[in-house]
Amino acid sequence: MIGLVAATAAGSAAARRLADAWPDRTRRYDEGPVRAAVARAFEDCDQLVCFLATGATVRLLAPLLRGKAADPGVVCVDEAGRFAVALLGGHGGGANDLAAEVAELLGDGCTAVVTTATDAVGIPGLDSLGWPVEGAVAAVTRAVLDGAPVALRADATWPLPALPPHVGVRGVAADVRLHVTDRRLPLAAREAVLRPPSLVVGVGASRGVGVEEVLGLVSDALDEAGLSPGSVAALATVDAKAGEPGLLAAAERLGVPLRTFPAAGLAAVDVPTPSAAPLAAVGTPSVAEAAALTAAGPGAELLVRKRKSAPADRPAMATCAVARRRPRGRLAVVGLGPGARDLLTPRARTELRRASVVVGLDQYVAQIRDLLRPGTRVLESGLGAEEERARSAVAEARAGHAVALVGSGDAGVYAMAAPALAEAGPAGGSAGSGGADPRGVDIDVVGVPGVTAALAAAALLGAPLGHDHVSVSLSDLHTPWEVIERRVRAAAESDLVVTFYNPRSRARTRQLPEALALLAKHRGPATPVGVVRSASRPEEHVLLTTLAELDPETVDMMTVVTVGNSATREIAGRMVTPRGYRWQT
Ligand code: SAH
Repeated sequence: MIGLVAATAAGSAAARRLADAWPDRTRRYDEGPVRAAVARAFEDCDQLVCFLATGATVRLLAPLLRGKAADPGVVCVDEAGRFAVALLGGHGGGANDLAAEVAELLGDGCTAVVTTATDAVGIPGLDSLGWPVEGAVAAVTRAVLDGAPVALRADATWPLPALPPHVGVRGVAADVRLHVTDRRLPLAAREAVLRPPSLVVGVGASRGVGVEEVLGLVSDALDEAGLSPGSVAALATVDAKAGEPGLLAAAERLGVPLRTFPAAGLAAVDVPTPSAAPLAAVGTPSVAEAAALTAAGPGAELLVRKRKSAPADRPAMATCAVARRRPRGRLAVVGLGPGARDLLTPRARTELRRASVVVGLDQYVAQIRDLLRPGTRVLESGLGAEEERARSAVAEARAGHAVALVGSGDAGVYAMAAPALAEAGPAGGSAGSGGADPRGVDIDVVGVPGVTAALAAAALLGAPLGHDHVSVSLSDLHTPWEVIERRVRAAAESDLVVTFYNPRSRARTRQLPEALALLAKHRGPATPVGVVRSASRPEEHVLLTTLAELDPETVDMMTVVTVGNSATREIAGRMVTPRGYRWQT
């Protein structure tokens, strides 16, 4: 039970909100003198929320305290409801969690204040990976938080997030060590090991195999090879065994998926230990070795050859083999939105903190630099150099790093995603020595959508995109002008709303008037036109004008120009394109 103690009108109002939200968890104590109310609540409840100053609460509680194990958790909320302070029993009494819950419930900017040390549940920065971690996690966590040197010992370059500069290969002398490996290691007192998802166990089985037989075999194979089960990313077998209960149960117990492959594909894999039995049964001379190598992908290495289970009293029903995957780097192509911080999506923010390398145009990097983890490597370049940025982003990912390639708006709209993915494809650059990936790409690629300029501008203008619309870039640097002209003419003829990106620069002044003239052949001079410069940035400027009155001088490279269709109207200062099914005039 949570006791709610309040002495003032504001405190009682806040207490009432908690009581209404948690009718079964709370009891109110706001009758009579506050000292007596606190004393009663202290006796009755295992947690207290006091709507009182911390000083007053400390003095009221002092004579009542018995000890850490017995005292309730206590949270104080100030008169204005701005802070929920975990005052007593942060961990044991649950006050830290309660402060967070109270802050969330009171809302309106109420902040939970927690002053106890972080629980050692994960090493900061690495907890987002979800990889198993073993050993002295608390000691390593503490050292990372305190800025003490931590030596990082990784078997390979895995796409880890950025770690602060005191965590690294140069901290050789440090006795606090973080290993990243699938190998079993003797760990010293201040060492922890992070298990990358590097191993795939191929399994073959006769019908009716028992889960214990499979698990025992896998465990022995890993043990003898000095490998950790924490690094097993998947079990793999042939399609014909996809429903084999013993294999499914083994995968579930290990907490990994069971991946299956067609026999024909497995038959084509070059393995050290082919045999006639599986060829007759399922159509491939190797299940365990071939499935392990196939699931582990290009560059995989077979660490444990096929071995059989060895039950004492009957023939073996399971085989297994272990392969190690080559680490795959990660390339996130991240749209940052039009400029304002609150138009950056939470997913984009997460990816920026997931990266150890950020690649982008200097002005976009400046937009988000404060969000990057300390230790993030930033490769920025000036205007132009697009291909080079795409190339270096892909090269960093191929080297195994976690890379975020950033661009304004949506990174796929007139931006970096296209050259980057072209570069990441099998035709781009050297694909490494690992052979062909089935998907043709040797890195993991993730796209994060962003609010593109056309949408940011549309929201400011009203609803200009209420019916069919297109975007056209007027930059003829990469596209011949005849092509652009043809597209604008098609948009004009089909009465599409058009948003022009890259409409006009100091050197390119003729394109916008020409494009507008093409549109004017099919829509009236009074057609609404929205001109939006620097949407969502401090210098934002919005102008609603018409096709006849638009002054191209008001347009620059930081602007998009949206031209309505023949039904677009200005309504109360807003640009509105009616939806098709109720055509109004
Ligand atoms: N990837 C970007 C577009 C890059 S092309 C996006 O999705 O928004 C660059 C052009 O985008 C600029 O010339 C301008 O026309 C437009 N643009 C980008 N940001 C803008 C903003 N905040 N306000 C208005 N136009 C913008």
